[in-house]
Amino acid sequence: MPEPIDEHVDLASLPKEERLARMRHSAAHVLAEAMLDLMPEAELGIGPPIETGFYYDFRLPRPLTQEDLVWLEERMRRSVAACHPFRMERITRQEALERWKNQPFKLDLLKDLADGEITQVTHNGFTDLCKGGHVNHTGEIGPFKLTSIAGAYWRGDEKNPMLQRVYGILFETEEELAEYERQLEEARRRDHRRIGRELGIFALFDEVGPGHVVWLPAGATIRRELERWIVDLEVERGYQHVVTPPVAKLELYQRSGHWQHYQDAMYPVMERENERYVLRPMNCPHHILIFASQQRSYRELPLRIAELGTMHRWEKSGELTGMSRVRIMTLNDAHIFCAGPEQVEQEAEGVLRLMEEVYATLGLRDYYYRLSLGERGSPKFVDNPAMWDAGESLLRRVLEKLGLPFVEAPGEAAFYGPKIDVQFKTAAGKDETLVTIQVDFHLPNQFELEYIGEDGQPHRPIIVHRGVLSTMERMVALLIEQYEGNFPLWLAPTQAVVVPIADRHVEYARQVAAKLRAARLRVTVDERNERMNAKIRDAQLQKVPYILVVGDREVQAGTAALRVRGGGDLGAMPVDAIVERLRSERDARALVP
Ligand SMILES: [Zn+2]
Ligand SMILES: [Zn+2]
Repeated sequence: MPEPIDEHVDLASLPKEERLARMRHSAAHVLAEAMLDLMPEAELGIGPPIETGFYYDFRLPRPLTQEDLVWLEERMRRSVAACHPFRMERITRQEALERWKNQPFKLDLLKDLADGEITQVTHNGFTDLCKGGHVNHTGEIGPFKLTSIAGAYWRGDEKNPMLQRVYGILFETEEELAEYERQLEEARRRDHRRIGRELGIFALFDEVGPGHVVWLPAGATIRRELERWIVDLEVERGYQHVVTPPVAKLELYQRSGHWQHYQDAMYPVMERENERYVLRPMNCPHHILIFASQQRSYRELPLRIAELGTMHRWEKSGELTGMSRVRIMTLNDAHIFCAGPEQVEQEAEGVLRLMEEVYATLGLRDYYYRLSLGERGSPKFVDNPAMWDAGESLLRRVLEKLGLPFVEAPGEAAFYGPKIDVQFKTAAGKDETLVTIQVDFHLPNQFELEYIGEDGQPHRPIIVHRGVLSTMERMVALLIEQYEGNFPLWLAPTQAVVVPIADRHVEYARQVAAKLRAARLRVTVDERNERMNAKIRDAQLQKVPYILVVGDREVQAGTAALRVRGGGDLGAMPVDAIVERLRSERDARALVP
């Protein structure tokens, strides 16, 4: 016989986080109850609380629709309004197998549970297998909404069946729920996947494969501008740019240790003529080979090898997101070979100064630095206390010297050394590492790197790995969200559109465009047979920074009526003055318009 368990709880006495967890967990049961009412043949997976609400996984006879979500939410509200108590009980293994015989996923869960520790919960006649942690009755569940449907493999394993996951959000008060919805709306408005599609920045084709971004003309233009800019900045600072193939023999990654550490995140091995090749997951080994390809003197150090290096990482398909989580990416990468800790310190300072300049130019403000430390004695990290002490304190010194605020994160270092992470907030509110500066004493040992010191003796260099712009994919995704598609002039794929009012102004419009083009401005003429207002509206939807309208008066006076994105109509200006205005705004990489 089932044995009742008293689970009564005084919600008000609990910390808020736990109260919310109980409400969210309980709401998941109510969702499952509603689902069985909608589709009695539904097979139940699991339904845990999550950071902002809850979800439940189901195997269903048909795909869910938005209308289903509306129905389920309404059905849940009725159950909540009726204040049904949650009753927990302990059952034997035998009872459980009988009770759940028609629910294959529950039977699968039972495999992991021993007799004596199996409990279930019932409310409003609906029973679920559960460890506990509820509110007392459904009336104590806070305000909620069902938000979305997604696919999820049973137990997160792609060998298992795909289930339908229903997500809900739940907070303690209506105000908190509304605030969170406002944030979601903001994230949707900035979502780089939607804007990227609307502005023709990138595309994903099933035939090319998930996570393999295709850069369309607008996106390729933005990327080209960023690449030219960063390469120029780096060349000014003594970096030497190289171009290396995105593939190498497997042995190279066995020697570097990537194969041992990153195998699961690598594309599978290719074999031909008894040689095994892999698509590279990182650029470091190629740059190390360049360093080691000739005898090096201390006079050459620090040696800064840079590349817009293409890499391949086998991210799980469920984790791929637009342009920000992809499988093939190009990193603004560099490896700086240093003669000792003082040089490492100077170089780290140079990299941080470059980062500050680059992010300021791009108008990025929502980021911070994180000093990621190792843990002495932990098997996760290379065992070399002196190396860790030296590396960590020099990175800390540099951050303090430059007055950059940072947080310290024990245990977040790379296995071979400490690093500074640049942490950004995505539009969805997630903290993500954009790029890192890593101090590496380990790979120089693996590859037995040497340079000849002032004393005529061989010494081992230290490598600083660093990015600044991150991968082009991630940076462009971030910029789309940052600007909401309103790229500053220097990055805007189309910088100006010339709009002739009538057919008889097309010839003049072409002359105006030619003047802009001669200043290397990206300009088009809208020669379609549309009304002027429709042409202006389309250019605004494409977020083009400048629109030049030309009609009879402008043809006569050699002018154009200039409209600036977000700033309205500036009136007629001589075409030469417009060219000058745009040219100087572009060359200054100004953040307006
Ligand atoms: Zn439960
Ligand atoms: Zn590296």
